[in-house]
Amino acid sequence: MPGSKPTVWLKAGREKSLRRRHPWVFSGAIERLEGEAAAGATVELVSSSGESLGRGAYSPASQIRARVWTFEPGESVDAAFFRRRLARAIESRRRLGLIASGSACRLVFSESDGLPGLIVDRYGEYLACQFLSAGADAWRATIVDLLAELCGPRGIYERSEGGARHKEGLQSRRGVLAGEEPPRELELVSGAARWSVDIANGQKTGAYLDQQANRARVAAHAREGDVLDAFSYTGGFAIACLRAGAKQATLIDSSADALALAERETAANEVQERCRFVVANVFEELRAVRDTGARFDVVVLDPPKFVHSADQIPAGSRGYKDVNMLGLALVRPGGVLATFSCSGHVDAALFQKIVAGAAVDAGRTAQILERLAQPADHPVATEFPEADYLKGLILRVH
Ligand code: SAH
Repeated sequence: MPGSKPTVWLKAGREKSLRRRHPWVFSGAIERLEGEAAAGATVELVSSSGESLGRGAYSPASQIRARVWTFEPGESVDAAFFRRRLARAIESRRRLGLIASGSACRLVFSESDGLPGLIVDRYGEYLACQFLSAGADAWRATIVDLLAELCGPRGIYERSEGGARHKEGLQSRRGVLAGEEPPRELELVSGAARWSVDIANGQKTGAYLDQQANRARVAAHAREGDVLDAFSYTGGFAIACLRAGAKQATLIDSSADALALAERETAANEVQERCRFVVANVFEELRAVRDTGARFDVVVLDPPKFVHSADQIPAGSRGYKDVNMLGLALVRPGGVLATFSCSGHVDAALFQKIVAGAAVDAGRTAQILERLAQPADHPVATEFPEADYLKGLILRVH
């Protein structure tokens, strides 16, 4: 009840998004904080007339001043609450058949699993966590204990890094949270491919789990082809294509560490002798390749996020158009372009428009064969469309 706990009073009329169960309260919607709340403390959220709207985590440094834990009137935010939410998220992946030994999946996807700011990825017997909000950070010890109890992992490792945490006023943190340190190269399987993941030092929490299913979809178009895997990281797309019968692959990434791991991973999959590894900026390298006259049956473009906020949409769109024009120019007539965007601010319709524009300007005709998205272990809560970030197109290019 207002008064008994720190309470965030909203401005008149600013409770509408909470009524639709959108979990973010922006600083501009807040009239005042009654009482005192440290970073991550649980606060009552009330409308201007004092009606209770839910409970959330207070984040004094962030524009997103509070993130809702629960909209249920009487629900307490305590260890039992986190146990229910974590168990529900894990059960959902179990029902999807994703908790098989030796494989990897995302167990908890932040707002979409009712746990704003918490990411938990499962890599075989190890878990990798990101606590990206003040609220998730404040509950770290409870969450780690519960994950140990619910999953029985060999070790839990923290990779709380990146811009999201800085916006919450939190420093980066990396290290063992429980159990054993993960091995430098953890051997796993992804589909039919062997995979080795470096949880402590790899990008994100060690791998791009969101592309696991899409690699198989792209590989289905790669039989007997020459593949260009641009922004390859450790070569997930190239390996899937080669295992599906592609003749050879060129991997391009700006990270020498990523390509070193790609060399070992392609060797473990017995496809290394059919690979070329190029440490380079994709934008420059694709131009250079274009000028040599080399062409490919399958070109994969899986760039990093170009658009981090709405004001970057125009510049980011130009970046996507550029790279797609370059990619399209390298596809042999009748071949395939598989192109992705992981920028949530560029929705599927805009992305399709950008790619269509790139085809016109590259002088190529293209047909959409398949539309790809993020997989079921990266769900999108219907009241939180911001979670919908990954989109891709597989195109036939003439
Ligand atoms: N396709 C990968 C994931 C790619 S993530 C997979 O399936 O696992 C994006 C990658 O692009 C990262 O590995 C990053 O190192 C690389 N990268 C970012 N900017 C780049 C640039 N300008 N040129 C080349 N690589 C770049």
